[in-house]
Amino acid sequence: MNKNESISGLILAGGRGSRMGHVDKGLQPFGGGSMVAQVLARLAPQVASVAINANQNLDTYAGFGVPVWPDDLAGFAGPLAGLETGMRRCQTPYLLTAPCDSPFLPPDLAARLLAALQEQDADLAFAATQEPGMRVQPHPVFCLVKAELLPILSAYLAEGGRRMDGWYKDLKAVEVLFDDGDAFRNINTLDELRSLDPQRPARLADVTSCLSAYDPDALPVRDAQRIIRDFVQPVGAVEQVALRPALGRVLARDIVSPIDVPAHDNSAMDGYALRGADLPLEGSVRLAVIGTVYAGRPSEAVPGPGECVRIMTGGVMPAGCDSVVPQEFVAEESEGAIVLTAGTIRAGDNRRFAGEDLKAGSAALAAGKIIRPADLGLIASLGIAEVPVVRRLRVAFFSTGDELRSIGQALDAGSVYDSNRYTIYGMLQRLGCDIIDMGIVRDDPAALEAALRSACENADAIITSGGVSVGAADYTRQIMARLGDVTFWKIGMRPGRPLAFGRIASNGRSAFLFGLPGNPVAVMVSFYFFARDALLRMMGADAPLPLLRARSQGAIRKKPGRTEYQRGILSHGEDGAPQVRITGSQGSGILRSMSEANCMVVLHDEQGNVAAGDMVDVLIFDGLI
Ligand code: AMP
Ligand code: MG
Repeated sequence: MNKNESISGLILAGGRGSRMGHVDKGLQPFGGGSMVAQVLARLAPQVASVAINANQNLDTYAGFGVPVWPDDLAGFAGPLAGLETGMRRCQTPYLLTAPCDSPFLPPDLAARLLAALQEQDADLAFAATQEPGMRVQPHPVFCLVKAELLPILSAYLAEGGRRMDGWYKDLKAVEVLFDDGDAFRNINTLDELRSLDPQRPARLADVTSCLSAYDPDALPVRDAQRIIRDFVQPVGAVEQVALRPALGRVLARDIVSPIDVPAHDNSAMDGYALRGADLPLEGSVRLAVIGTVYAGRPSEAVPGPGECVRIMTGGVMPAGCDSVVPQEFVAEESEGAIVLTAGTIRAGDNRRFAGEDLKAGSAALAAGKIIRPADLGLIASLGIAEVPVVRRLRVAFFSTGDELRSIGQALDAGSVYDSNRYTIYGMLQRLGCDIIDMGIVRDDPAALEAALRSACENADAIITSGGVSVGAADYTRQIMARLGDVTFWKIGMRPGRPLAFGRIASNGRSAFLFGLPGNPVAVMVSFYFFARDALLRMMGADAPLPLLRARSQGAIRKKPGRTEYQRGILSHGEDGAPQVRITGSQGSGILRSMSEANCMVVLHDEQGNVAAGDMVDVLIFDGLI
């Protein structure tokens, strides 16, 4: 491929990304990188240099190592504003534009447009394609233009013109027909993005076939967890939010410190800054106090030998000083002098070095972190006002069952109030999801299909409860299976054996599906041990369940070969070490025991009976997200 030295490339990434839900299009993940990185990789070999036209996330774009040019014109005036900026700044006779959402652009784009322009002595050339039997489809954003035409474009923009193909009506433009229509495909929705991504997710069967012995009717918990983990995909989309609302969100990119923290060598104590060489080896020494340094108010004073400076905590260390003696260690204090005795401090004590907390350019926080109060403080200490976070996950959920009644309805014979929807609401809320509560859906095929489709079209993940166990009306399973790639498991666990999992699709949108069992306790157990991790993974977060070891106060009966989750009460023994006892009744429908418990005891597959005093794994509810 020939590099055309007379052409500069410009990637148009200045849009608002409205059709993608206001995400920054160019930065969306694609092919293991981002869309803009793909376009850059294809464009760079064809031209002398490339720049990116962007109006948000400028630092992130700058990270691609090419110049970033925001629109000179205010107000997101469209691709022409980017073109104008590019023509103004480019150093070559020609400028070639390509949109940031065209990761398949052809390798001979620059060469063919330039050849046509020169052959026909035109002012600009743009790409077009034609499907058999269809009209020619122009692609005016793939445009090669003479940079000297800037005044004509500027005049058009000044009149309010915005059409990419409107400004050159009086110029000579040539259309260059390319064969490969797909090469000009641009990606407008997140779903298109996912479905076109060469690294798109595998089918469930591809994932399950990696297991040595896969039996959907007797699946160990850890295999189910692994399949789910391998199958779900991070949503990827990133948004920039102000610092405070970033609390609880997932950090989308590493936060790199722009400064040294602290910025200067400073004092860790209220006291006197001095030169280590003045510290007495024996006896005592008298030092003259020549000034005072307050935090935030450095002093010009530079102590010489035999001199010191009064300093407050956080005060900048005066030149030449390397140690601080706390004021309470000073033997004698008078107006203009202090007396120090040997051995009170060592040289270098109580001095904080610049960059001791964080060096400029080092990673302060890693992508994937769920932002906690301490992180807010850390980010603030770097002077950073906005944080890139993963967009909120949208999760739709509903309960299934003819016997379910909503709060406010009368309980007729055989009916129960729908509690799962509230438990699920609470658990999703804690995870920081955007939730879509779809209510109760009857055991009716049409109603179920409509609910699943609507959930799928509006959410990233769907959580249902009920209807997936054997004996339940079969069509729940049939419909789930018909709408996509769904598998039904009997998991080696108690409570919560049945689980439906997969991905369903409707009208070009897809969502991951978790069909939880109906029993209220089973719902919580399946959510915490299967759905939670998957949802966090979709959010790009890594937050494994915080299991803790505790001593079992009593004996627990346990059959090897399945995982058991028992509700427990964790406390501190007389020796201060954590201990746990099982709450009374462990029936899977008994929510009261769940509410009374403060933890769940996790008895793993291979484990047999537990004797009093044995150590067991415990999941503490408090602080669990
Ligand atoms: P299923 O899996 O649909 O057979 O439901 C198992 C058990 O859980 C039945 O006793 C249901 O009545 C009960 N159940 C299902 N969904 C809910 C719900 N949303 N709230 C309370 N109980 C439920
Ligand atoms: Mg049911």
